[in-house]
Amino acid sequence: MQHFFNRYYRSNTLSCATLNIHLIASRETVLHGMQKQIIHIVTKRLNKLRVNIHTQTRISHIHEHEITLTNDKVIPFDFMIFAGGTIAAPCLETLALPKNKKGQLLVDDYLRSQKDENIFVIGDCALLTNTKGEIQPPTAQTAEQSGAAAAINILRMTENKPLKKAHIQIKGLAIALGGTFAAISIGKLYFSGYPAYLIKKLTEKIYKWPLWWSANQGFKKIEACEI
Ligand SMILES: Cc1cc2nc3c(=O)[nH]c(=O)nc-3n(C[C@H](O)[C@H](O)[C@H](O)COP(=O)(O)OP(=O)(O)OC[C@H]3O[C@@H](n4cnc5c(N)ncnc54)[C@H](O)[C@@H]3O)c2cc1C
Repeated sequence: MQHFFNRYYRSNTLSCATLNIHLIASRETVLHGMQKQIIHIVTKRLNKLRVNIHTQTRISHIHEHEITLTNDKVIPFDFMIFAGGTIAAPCLETLALPKNKKGQLLVDDYLRSQKDENIFVIGDCALLTNTKGEIQPPTAQTAEQSGAAAAINILRMTENKPLKKAHIQIKGLAIALGGTFAAISIGKLYFSGYPAYLIKKLTEKIYKWPLWWSANQGFKKIEACEI
């Protein structure tokens, strides 16, 4: 949005110069918990675009056209987007199984509920961790990986074979940062700017192909099943 305002301001007589975006992040940085290189790239880009970043503060009050922060700062606004976190699907509330404060079910290494070995939990509903025990953010990547791992374990369970530990891991991230600028991390590799933008666009075009292939393989297995 800020990139759009900046461009519009430059190419039109109608001024967007007084339009300001304020980004409020409760932790020490934006994207807290992500790799520090990504945080650095994103912060630098947002500063360059003129986004006002407020860290280590939260919203304490929302009035009709202004918000008050916990550091007593008051910010007037016309339009506000609140993206203060997600919770798991409400239908899980009634399940008497161990959960975290977001309502995600706690699972063992094989993606079964910690309390009931016959219940497998996948995707956003589960608190997924990598092999180091680090919590993985709920994403399509982790949802797909957990789905495949649980499916394999359900099959192995029906065949009385030992279950396999799930290896859930975020393999890469691509973040759009206005215009033709993006940031990408793949393993320990980081890059940003136009090349990252091109790779992000390419990923958006082709991500469905491997997904379609694995869904198709799974469907064939279900069709071949005698149940
Ligand atoms: C705006 C947005 C942008 C995102 N961008 C990205 C991204 O760029 N990259 C990425 O990796 N991830 C992204 N994510 C996260 C990603 O979409 C989720 O992590 C992923 O879809 C989780 O898959 P899932 O199968 O667990 O849940 P979902 O895809 O949410 O599927 C759950 C399904 O269950 C259905 N359902 C819910 N309650 C009930 C009920 N009571 N009865 C029956 N059905 C029910 C829902 O309708 C839905 O179809 C984004 C999420 C959002 C909201």
